Amino acid sequence: MGQGFALMLKRLRKDFQLSIITLMGLFGVLGITPYAIYRLLNGNILVGISDTVIVSSTIFAVLYAWRTGDTVKPGIYLASVFSIAATLIVINLGVNGLFWIYPLILFNFFMVSPGKAIIATLLVLGSLVGYAFWVPGSVFDSHYQMVSFLVTNLMAGVLTFIFAYRTRHQRDQLQILAIHDPLTGARNRRAMNDELKIAVSSKRRRGTSYGVLVMDLDHFKRINDEFGHPAGDQVLIDFVELIRNSARKEDRLFRFGGEEFLLLLPDTDAAGLEAAAANLQKQVRNALKGPAGPVTTSMGGAILRPGETWASWLQRADQCLYQAKSAGRDRSIIDEPPAPPTTEGPAPQGA
Ligand code: GH3
Ligand code: MG
Ligand code: MG
Repeated sequence: MGQGFALMLKRLRKDFQLSIITLMGLFGVLGITPYAIYRLLNGNILVGISDTVIVSSTIFAVLYAWRTGDTVKPGIYLASVFSIAATLIVINLGVNGLFWIYPLILFNFFMVSPGKAIIATLLVLGSLVGYAFWVPGSVFDSHYQMVSFLVTNLMAGVLTFIFAYRTRHQRDQLQILAIHDPLTGARNRRAMNDELKIAVSSKRRRGTSYGVLVMDLDHFKRINDEFGHPAGDQVLIDFVELIRNSARKEDRLFRFGGEEFLLLLPDTDAAGLEAAAANLQKQVRNALKGPAGPVTTSMGGAILRPGETWASWLQRADQCLYQAKSAGRDRSIIDEPPAPPTTEGPAPQGA
């Protein structure tokens, strides 16, 4: 029980959108349930039913988000249900209901993307004004009140849109910066550790075959020493671009040291890894030019073995790289596949 609670807290801390949906869900249920009971008891059936729908939808959406980890669909669902219900409530209650539209605007910006939230805001305001014109005397007490309401809501909506848009943009930027190397644009070591762990668990659960190639530029220090650091930097940038263009779409390139890179190749067996290494090697040899001529690279590769840790997998590839360097550079060595498993169970008849 205590452990389950700790796990829930951990998920809430890690997943901002889930925590917002849960918090809003809690507010929704605690805040609206008394209203629902009150309206139903007082015979205001339409508003009572709207409130009940809001409460039950909220519980449903929160449970769905927790179960599936998907917060996008529950967000859209909740924003739609809350917007429609709030519109109906305002139409029914008139001026007393109008105040709810302000928190509704903020709520929608928390639930869905800024673009969708501003559309929801415009739809709600449009419906209320449309209804007020259709049934004169409903919703607003006067035209003056309607205009004030519209202007203040539009201001709230536009300001929230700008804020939400900026925040989202900055969060996306931050996410990109956190996992990429600023010089070459390749993914960084942090991303590499995460992806290697994912590969190991995907191998365990689904049996996906993975290969890695560890690549190290040959005699790179000479370029720096003879032509300066910026020249070395340019070679690194060109190398990453070349590998990106030569590797498959699903392969992931990481820079995990100065001039050391790792390519993660999903759905790749030993023969495929060898072919990929040979191809990349050739591309680099033919196309990568430093200030003093062609630049070459050495590679070590290994296929992830069943039950192996990512550290051991990487270490095998690293040892092959070391051997490739010792054997004269500009070559790739792939670690041998493991010996076939010893036969288990009874020996075949007649063997
Ligand atoms: P080997 O063939 O054995 O790999 O020789 P090497 O000269 O490539 O290897 P070594 O490890 O001796 O040198 C790596 C050099 O990479 C040393 C370091 O100054 C340089 N380096 C590391 N990061 C950067 C970088 O971001 N930019 C530049 N220009 N150089 C870097
Ligand atoms: Mg090197
Ligand atoms: Mg090195």
